[in-house]
Amino acid sequence: MKIYINGEYYDKADAQISVFDHGLLYGDGVFEGIRIYNGRVFKLKEHIERLYQSAKAILLEIPVSNGGMEEAVIGAVKINKKENGYIRLMVTRGEGLLGIDPTTCRRPTIIIIVSDIQAYPEKYYKNGIGIITASSRRIPSDCLDPRIKSLNYLNNIMAKIEARQANCLEAVMLNKEGFVTECTGDNIFIVKNDELLTPASYQGALDGITMSTVIDMANSLKIKTLKTSLTRYDIYNSDECFLTGTGAEIIPVIKIDGRVIGNGRTGAITRRLIKGFKELVMEF
Ligand code: PMP
Repeated sequence: MKIYINGEYYDKADAQISVFDHGLLYGDGVFEGIRIYNGRVFKLKEHIERLYQSAKAILLEIPVSNGGMEEAVIGAVKINKKENGYIRLMVTRGEGLLGIDPTTCRRPTIIIIVSDIQAYPEKYYKNGIGIITASSRRIPSDCLDPRIKSLNYLNNIMAKIEARQANCLEAVMLNKEGFVTECTGDNIFIVKNDELLTPASYQGALDGITMSTVIDMANSLKIKTLKTSLTRYDIYNSDECFLTGTGAEIIPVIKIDGRVIGNGRTGAITRRLIKGFKELVMEF
């Protein structure tokens, strides 16, 4: 495995950054998780654009152009000879003094790791998963905009711990007002009366790239979509439910908080979307 750090490649054992990097000290930085299918990088432009928007929002100037970053990602995939896998692209504030002041950091650290994908076991894509509602609420979007994909995931990790303690793989997070936001690392959709509904980002959801891909697919299948406000009641009484994310792709949810969703099996619309998504990533 060859890891890219600031324009150079290192073997895994030699890939090191400073303990004074504010990415480590304070989670000060932004990142993307990206998929490689058949040797090609899926939705690369969209991921790079989101990375730069996250960076702009936290006043982090990435010292490489968008095009240069795209080339760096493609270069890292090539050098690792990866046909199918996962890319972790990170930009931290860089090395600085102790203390949160980012002005002490002179140069951001850019890291690209090309690795294997840690997907859920295959059986869950057919049979679906059970999830819970976490008691940890999502950080309000007026405190930290959920569209910023930052290195600071403790809010999500707290909810993930709750999921694991309840023997589940994922947990849905509510905002302070009790509206559904997203899961710890995935967006959430429900199907109600043949319409696809997902929480709007202002409720506290990341603008997921898989979410957008699913919405585009639904539009071309003439399935109505809406970004809206949802409560737990809406999920409990939905016909179908599924999660989307770069790692998870589309994973059906058949149970939440002990309530069975629909008939307890992966729904027809979810199955169509999973099939469509599989075809899409083979062809793009
Ligand atoms: N929400 C959160 C909190 C995430 O971390 C992710 C990505 N893992 C998603 C949603 C899904 O976004 P995307 O489809 O762009 O991977």
